Amino acid sequence: MTMTLPYLEPLSPREPGERQIPEPPRRGEPGGPPCRICAGKTSAAVWSNDNWTLHPPVKGSLPGAVWLASRVHVDSFSDLPDELAADFGRVAARVERAILALGDVARVHLYRWGDGGAHFHVWFLPRPLGMVEASGMMLPLWEDALPNVPDEELAKAAERVAAKM
Ligand SMILES: [Zn+2]
Repeated sequence: MTMTLPYLEPLSPREPGERQIPEPPRRGEPGGPPCRICAGKTSAAVWSNDNWTLHPPVKGSLPGAVWLASRVHVDSFSDLPDELAADFGRVAARVERAILALGDVARVHLYRWGDGGAHFHVWFLPRPLGMVEASGMMLPLWEDALPNVPDEELAKAAERVAAKM
């Protein structure tokens, strides 16, 4: 594997800043701004069922990327009711298969960050076939560094994913 940063080297390491404790409230938790997912203020879902909604990104660089959210407002894996936790594995497999079916995709990376909003959602990023320098943890960095494609293109690719669900 030849993971490579999307920046020219040399980069110089720096020290972490002062810790912020308590941390600033996230969207959708007490003291924070309202939940954008519950308020319907995100990109519209391209697919949904009783438990989940699937959305295209905005201002992204990888067509075929999507994010999946629970219908219920819970924070993380440990907060999902058992039935949803079990169903997550099934729906994640469907999303992965649907993205791979787009073609030109080597692997589907799944990320759960949760630092921005407190409503359960995970990201599925397609690593373009042959783009081995974006392996592993490099893919989100490349996603950030590459030029964005139009939101319409991201939405169309997400609709192609939805059609294969
Ligand atoms: Zn919410």
